[in-house]
Amino acid sequence: LFAAPVEFLKGVVAMKGLPPADRIEVCFAGRSNVGKSSLINALTNRRNLARASNTPGRTQEINYFTTQDGPYLVDLPGYGFAQAPVAVVAKWQALLKEYLSGRATLRRAFVLVDTRHGIKSVDEEILTLLDRSAVTFQVVMTKSDKVSAQEREKVLAQVRQALSKHPAAYPEIVLTSSEKGEGIETLRAIIAGLD
Ligand code: GDP
Repeated sequence: LFAAPVEFLKGVVAMKGLPPADRIEVCFAGRSNVGKSSLINALTNRRNLARASNTPGRTQEINYFTTQDGPYLVDLPGYGFAQAPVAVVAKWQALLKEYLSGRATLRRAFVLVDTRHGIKSVDEEILTLLDRSAVTFQVVMTKSDKVSAQEREKVLAQVRQALSKHPAAYPEIVLTSSEKGEGIETLRAIIAGLD
């Protein structure tokens, strides 16, 4: 699946812009700066496929990438900009809701969580939205190289505890480091195994 180059297909700002639902897809969500661009680049072996668009107020696009004979990879805009204009946040939330509840081919959402921080209230909002939309989500811990083994266990316990309250949560948590490559192959295999 990831042997052939993954290509950027399009950026979408409204439901009518979504590509035809002719294959399954997975999406990636996470707080801005969580390491989402780095993870997508590591997964796809591309240095700069996903670019961090960390400027508040900038067009919030849902970015579609194609894999050969596999699912679309869908990069959702990072959330949790403290200083993002209210109107931008509202528009984005409306599109996100529509996307999560209306995309029948969406098989799994990967929610990225910084291994240093665990699940925060801003993450809880999207987890609740995923529950309501009945989209199975799996937590992917990022930047695992930044914490000690002891700290990891502490944060993992916090995450497990938080997930126990979410019916749409997939129980297995994936620990990754885009820097060191940890968990990247595991995540590829999970994506390749979906149907
Ligand atoms: P995004 O806003 O979620 O797309 O985050 P980026 O991928 O742009 O990453 C945010 C910052 O975290 C950048 O400075 C990255 O270099 C750093 N970063 C991302 N992944 C890792 C990782 O696995 N390990 C370490 N140490 N740093 C990372």
